[in-house]
Amino acid sequence: MRKLLLATGNPGKLREMRALLGDLPVQLLDPDSLGLKLQVEESEQDYAANARLKATTFARASGLWALADDSGLEVEALGGGPGPRSARLAGPEADDEARRQRLLELLAPHPPPWPARFRCVMALAGPDGAVDVVQGTCRGEILPEPRGRGGFGYDPLFLVEGMERTMAELAPHEKNRVSHRARAMQAMLPLLRARLGLGED
Ligand code: IMP
Repeated sequence: MRKLLLATGNPGKLREMRALLGDLPVQLLDPDSLGLKLQVEESEQDYAANARLKATTFARASGLWALADDSGLEVEALGGGPGPRSARLAGPEADDEARRQRLLELLAPHPPPWPARFRCVMALAGPDGAVDVVQGTCRGEILPEPRGRGGFGYDPLFLVEGMERTMAELAPHEKNRVSHRARAMQAMLPLLRARLGLGED
């Protein structure tokens, strides 16, 4: 069976990527299972550059095809920020809770509603250096109070457009139908099949 390395150490992303790729006839590996400990220096400015860098670094180090995700939250009132800096919004050591609090602090001077979207850019890299990049977005708005216990990151603050619930109030299979990551994966699946020689489904 062909192997695919999921080039992320983020447990939330890993869980969702595994579910989104569930039907693909490939063995999904993660950096931990290969004992791969790589620090990838992200530029913070550009999702696609970050995603490419993560995918190519892991593909070269493992000799496998590698799939990476760079994602972030873009809030209109913050001029599209924090964007690619979403993971570092409250400093390098902060946890999800601290990042959510910092986001609400930054939004406090702005009158609600706070329209926003999640963006996910995915890169697939081969050990030979070939790279494909796709993206997906999901629109919604930021709420002043967290709601729900599912998902990860900014999910409890993100009310999904057209639904009465936050991302964290959706069941995993529901988030995996509408999320930015799900949409990016939809665009990625035909490329994955072609690159890994998996044929049509
Ligand atoms: P990076 O892609 O590792 O640079 O980090 C992505 C940042 O955006 C992290 O702070 C995540 O918590 C946040 N993020 C990415 N995807 C999601 C999501 O699906 N839900 C909530 N937060 C997310």
